[in-house]
Amino acid sequence: MSGLSSRHVLVVDDEPELCPVIRKALRSYDYHITCAKNGYDALRLYDQERDSFSLILTDINMPGMSGCELALDLKARGSRIPILLMSDDCIQPLPIKCRSLGLSGCLAKPFTPDKLRHALDETSRMANRVCESTAKALNLRVYPDPILREYCTPISTYDSDLQALSEQMFIFMRENCGVGLAGPQVGIIERIIVADDSETALCLVNPEIISASGTERMVEGCLSLPGVQVDVARNAHVGVIGKRQDGKRISIEADGLLARILQHEIDHLNGTLICDYDPVSKMYL
Ligand SMILES: [Zn+2]
Repeated sequence: MSGLSSRHVLVVDDEPELCPVIRKALRSYDYHITCAKNGYDALRLYDQERDSFSLILTDINMPGMSGCELALDLKARGSRIPILLMSDDCIQPLPIKCRSLGLSGCLAKPFTPDKLRHALDETSRMANRVCESTAKALNLRVYPDPILREYCTPISTYDSDLQALSEQMFIFMRENCGVGLAGPQVGIIERIIVADDSETALCLVNPEIISASGTERMVEGCLSLPGVQVDVARNAHVGVIGKRQDGKRISIEADGLLARILQHEIDHLNGTLICDYDPVSKMYL
């Protein structure tokens, strides 16, 4: 049974002719296919045999429930099954918010059997890496853990491990109701941060502040300093450059909450914590 469940794909599409085509395309490979005709059907099948599926391949645009809405419902049910979208009109790469729902990517229609198999293999491989990364690395580090005082090293390799790490950091941050997270907070002494001010969600690798202006004060908390709140004066506007998790350059002009989150998280990469802005706060640690 473990061999079956490791290759059991739930295909969700409102075009009835597509699923048999996919089944035929994967006949020579070790994939077991179950077909659902829409999102509701997929949820019913998931509820019946949730431990059986290893991957969900779903159309984005379906009547009644879209692929993204299906992903939301599955997440609400506690599913961690990776989801690969398929569409005539894929947006690549998928927005980070979509990926945090468990959406691993988008397969452009029409696809060849080879492209389909490659996409399924890649999605399964990434999901396994995410699981390994969660198990091995992502434990919250709390003051006075010395790792929080390390100067983090720059990242030079942009591979699927880094992609998996960034996705896992987003998930970890959201599960802990944070708006930002830096590598050392989860035991990674490397220059990577994630931030989400509810309007912008981004991962930054090797971020650098290249311009700053204005000053604002705000009370901040930190996942690594539970119970501590510090009134911190920071720049109101910052220009930040860095790379995305896929190695592409990124340049951001931020103000308001996002500017504050970026400065807070970049502080973490240099071993600086909010308690350093107010020595009195250390009395409460
Ligand atoms: Zn923090």
